Amino acid sequence: MRKLVAGNWKMNGLAASLGELSALKDGLAGAPCDVLVCPPATLIAQAAWAVKGAFALGGQDCHFEAKGAFTGDIAAEMLKDAGASYVIVGHSERRQYHSESSADVAKKAQAAWRAGLKAIICLGESLEQRKAGSANHICADQLKESVPDGATPANTVIAYEPVWAIGTGLTATPAKVQKIHAFIRSQLAKKDANISLLTRVLYGGSVKPANAAELFAQPDVDGGLIGGAALVASDFLDICAAAR
Ligand code: PEP
Repeated sequence: MRKLVAGNWKMNGLAASLGELSALKDGLAGAPCDVLVCPPATLIAQAAWAVKGAFALGGQDCHFEAKGAFTGDIAAEMLKDAGASYVIVGHSERRQYHSESSADVAKKAQAAWRAGLKAIICLGESLEQRKAGSANHICADQLKESVPDGATPANTVIAYEPVWAIGTGLTATPAKVQKIHAFIRSQLAKKDANISLLTRVLYGGSVKPANAAELFAQPDVDGGLIGGAALVASDFLDICAAAR
């Protein structure tokens, strides 16, 4: 399966940061993977103009309604209209700081599909949950509750992001990542074996140029969701190059 390397800029980036996207565009010719950048929503339209389809753009969250009285929220249709083809839903920072439940995440994934976007559905355990030995159990529950019926390899990507590895510099060992990715795939297979085989399962959590190749070499790692290292084009390009 061709890997997907996705950058999540989080709440970083002003118009001046569009230069990073142009550098990315120039450096990505012949990239061995599909590439996606999710800048802040304020930059998507300008980014679409700057990158001219050289790689995909996505939002970092969406509301589940198409429009209405939801001050400050952004509809999936608006992201699509601005030039996005993906949207991240259920990132642990949304679950933590905005109290989003897996049921909310499922509604957002359906909204993404309604708008013609692919949903990147995030899940992952906290440090306490891992220490308690319940990582698999947590991931299975989040998967079951966050991924709606109707998910296909064409409309959905799963991102396994252990909360303790996000932005901390701590990375799960490649062997641990492989083990839980294989578990996630086995859970998806309970619904449909074929869909499970073809659905991309990304790893996210302190992926850097130095550890990307080893993580991407794992058979059930179909790419990465990259936070901090996606902000600098040269680092992100090195991570993309590791996705052979
Ligand atoms: C993320 O935000 O999804 C992420 C994985 O961040 P970082 O790469 O900085 O850990």
